[in-house]
Amino acid sequence: MKIFECPECSSPVYFENMRCSCASELFYNPETAGFSSQGIACANRELLSCNWAARPGEALCDSCVMTKVHPEPDVVQNLALWARTEASKRWVLANLKQLGWFAAADTGPRPSFELLSETTSTGADSPVMGHLAGKIIINVAEADPATLVDRREKMQEPFRTMVGHFRHEISHFLFSRLSGSHPFLTRFRSLFGDETADYGDALQRYYETGAGEGWSDTHISEYASAHPHEDWAETAAHVLHLLDLRDSANAVGMTLPGTRFGAHDTRTALNEGLDLGVALNHMNRSMGLDDAYPFVIAPIVRDKLEFCAEQLNQKNRTGKLQPG
Ligand SMILES: [Zn+2]
Ligand SMILES: [Zn+2]
Ligand SMILES: [Zn+2]
Repeated sequence: MKIFECPECSSPVYFENMRCSCASELFYNPETAGFSSQGIACANRELLSCNWAARPGEALCDSCVMTKVHPEPDVVQNLALWARTEASKRWVLANLKQLGWFAAADTGPRPSFELLSETTSTGADSPVMGHLAGKIIINVAEADPATLVDRREKMQEPFRTMVGHFRHEISHFLFSRLSGSHPFLTRFRSLFGDETADYGDALQRYYETGAGEGWSDTHISEYASAHPHEDWAETAAHVLHLLDLRDSANAVGMTLPGTRFGAHDTRTALNEGLDLGVALNHMNRSMGLDDAYPFVIAPIVRDKLEFCAEQLNQKNRTGKLQPG
């Protein structure tokens, strides 16, 4: 994510800021990827701390308008969970717009979101995250940091985050947008396998027997080995993590020996992200923290990542990437 400038005083401002230290109100415009100080606020500005400007002539912003179902705000904790979930969603959507997805010039279909809580006025619920025919269901429970840590441990997924959930589920949606093309499907199947294999059977097998020995030689995560659709979603989500990591490093002026960030081609940008992951792990260890990017990338997995990176760069199919 880039670091922005206050339009009034030019101080640096961050993506989630509602106002600048100079007291100017800040409104994020996802089309220009910048802030203005005089926008029409999204109708969820007060309720959810949404700092995006409303769509022209509409009440809600580009992100809030995609939420079709949300938790009941008057049930305990739901409002805070919903607000934090929307913050993760805005982050992921802002990144995707930089790659050309769901921007004004993108006339293709958009996903809709159902953000569901485990706590409802009629009792406990257990919404399952997933994507089906353009609808993305997100369980807001893990927007609570303690719940997230608890599930991260239970599921043994050290990289589990709300931003990651959005990137994974939206990647399923993007597959449905990309898979209309023959060249895409041919290359996809040669790398990931046949996605028409029975999904229910594959998942059942995965939950019974696990990923199996040697999964990391061919897959980015254990879950990616469950089915080609999950392999795509897991791998594409990693590309979105790594491109964002590289954009953030670029924004703070970081360099690494032998690497100047800001390459315009997607593959190089991805590889810069991977180098940064290694560097970030090394820095985290110096503070006694766990690895920020706890993955070892095998050659086959790198091929898959490069394919996903190329495909996700919708903005310029010739491979040019807009530096974030
Ligand atoms: Zn300012
Ligand atoms: Zn909004
Ligand atoms: Zn999935």
